[in-house]
Amino acid sequence: MNTATQGLIIINTGHGKGKTTAAFGQALRAAGQGLKVCIIQFIKGQSKTGEVLACASAFPEQIELHLAGTGFTWQQDMETVKKAALAGWQLAREKILSDTYDLIVLDELTYLIGFDLVSEEEVISLCREKPKRLHLLITGRDASQELIEYADLVTEMQAIKHPFQRGVKARKGIEF
Ligand code: ATP
Ligand code: MG
Repeated sequence: MNTATQGLIIINTGHGKGKTTAAFGQALRAAGQGLKVCIIQFIKGQSKTGEVLACASAFPEQIELHLAGTGFTWQQDMETVKKAALAGWQLAREKILSDTYDLIVLDELTYLIGFDLVSEEEVISLCREKPKRLHLLITGRDASQELIEYADLVTEMQAIKHPFQRGVKARKGIEF
């Protein structure tokens, strides 16, 4: 059971928009309060998204950002995607166990479980091993049931309407 001084396992999941942007909002809030933050973006990690550019220019000291993705999955062969994802997972382990952060965001981590690159047990076991004070925020669609049960704070984004359904393409500043 978490006490007030213990870090939380937080999950942003669901098929609606807002998982990654809420995670960056959380990182911003944490950085503003002097917490040390590390964000690792899996699968889709692109270097020119607004959130990456903003973190690099505004919070180079307090928010450390790593891109463990290779761009959009459908433009890449699966082996390249897997290799990058597994390197990201290794980095995540190191960062979590280093005990130098207050908040670590693992953005799109659930896809690694979905693609059978990392098992649900490995993720939960790392959550158990994490330094007590560390908050861990995991995002991505279809978070597994066991992970949801293990977590302290779970939010499901529900898609009610999205311009994509009307054929509107991704827009700078809104989707990336
Ligand atoms: P965001 O990064 O905007 O917070 P997200 O992290 O919740 O979105 P992902 O599943 O990571 O969503 O997908 C990333 C991209 O897909 C975003 O550009 C987002 O706008 C878009 N997207 C999210 N939900 C939907 C949806 N229900 N229909 C179409 N596109 C979506
Ligand atoms: Mg996302």
